[in-house]
Amino acid sequence: MQVLHIQTPLLESTPLSQIVGSEVWLKMEALQPSGSFKLRGIGRACSYHAGRGVQRFISSSGGNAGIAVAYCGRKLGLPVTVVVPLSTPERAIETIKCEQAEVIVSGESWQEAHGHAQSLSGRDRVLIHPFDDPLLWEGHATLIDEVKQSGLRPDAVVLSVGGGGLLCGVLEGLHRNDMADVPVLAVETEGAASLGASLKAGHHLELERITTVATSLGAKKVADKAWEWCGRHEILSLSVSDLEAVDSCLQFAADHRHLVEPACGAALAAVYGQQPFLNDKKTILLVVCGGVGVSFEQLQQWQQDLEKR
Ligand SMILES: *Cc1c(COP(=O)(O)O)cnc(C)c1O
Repeated sequence: MQVLHIQTPLLESTPLSQIVGSEVWLKMEALQPSGSFKLRGIGRACSYHAGRGVQRFISSSGGNAGIAVAYCGRKLGLPVTVVVPLSTPERAIETIKCEQAEVIVSGESWQEAHGHAQSLSGRDRVLIHPFDDPLLWEGHATLIDEVKQSGLRPDAVVLSVGGGGLLCGVLEGLHRNDMADVPVLAVETEGAASLGASLKAGHHLELERITTVATSLGAKKVADKAWEWCGRHEILSLSVSDLEAVDSCLQFAADHRHLVEPACGAALAAVYGQQPFLNDKKTILLVVCGGVGVSFEQLQQWQQDLEKR
């Protein structure tokens, strides 16, 4: 089976290590060719389906999942259709088209676009889900395989949670690499804290609405599997404000010269904000999940707008 993701660098961050007073290691998923970790899982799913002879990939994401599916289709020589809602920024549509995928703009919300995408799927046209698919988690788990191969054994993993695909993959990776006891700090923005709300309520619930600049975290309900993991692994849930996420992206750009989305900034904010949970952890693995929906000007604009609130 063709592997479509790359092995990413694992970098020790001097600025972040100084802030928390321990070793902070960055897994640089922002450097995947599609700009985010999503390529690991989506590459795994697309490769698998290509192997069983599907003729087309379909996606309902105008974000990093859609871009990853488009990239995989181009690499595997299969056509891709991405259905995105009307609200999708022109830049995102251009990025997807740049990967030679067909873009259909349809529906007021993601749900409507997803419904349209579902109606296009069939026996030889497979809809690739952005977060809820065991093939995806298997692919995301390679991130931890690489950490293990490097010889690093973290005392905690810090990552962002949207629909929980990354979380499921990292947990699968920890368990298959003899690190089942390593706790995970799962970070969301306040306006997209579907995991946090479920944990607080004690049952798996769906948010009524999403209000955050971290659009890549905008799942109203996390995958069943993500919720299930909370019962069998030490997972601490944390919410940060949009402003904290955006500030952290700008600080990270200054410290490490890489641009990442606020979705990724949420995880960064846990470390920049010196979360007490990290106090006694000597070695911290921070998943820099990336994201292409960002520019320096956009980050500054968000920061200005959020500071006014
Ligand atoms: C998709 C995405 C997330 C959230 O991942 P889930 O698997 O949905 O939890 C976080 N950051 C970025 C940049 C993403 O693209």
